[in-house]
Amino acid sequence: MKRKYVQVTEKSGPKTCCIEGCNDVATRSLSIQEYEGGLGKSGLTMATGKATRLVACDRHYKALRKGVKKDKAIEKIRRGF
Ligand SMILES: [Zn+2]
Repeated sequence: MKRKYVQVTEKSGPKTCCIEGCNDVATRSLSIQEYEGGLGKSGLTMATGKATRLVACDRHYKALRKGVKKDKAIEKIRRGF
């Protein structure tokens, strides 16, 4: 029974937010390529450097989205719209 429980949590159980210092349950799985820009902009750091997906709790997902939006806006200005 114990063994089975471990397997379930590893494969499909709830994941913890990948942001450093956050232990909330992750509700979103995001593409790192798309959202890594948002990390710096929001002042957030990932707890693990080798992740292939960015899993974030609701709170950090919102922060990351804000960061990504800002990033895209700046890019637009740099390109001269
Ligand atoms: Zn979080």
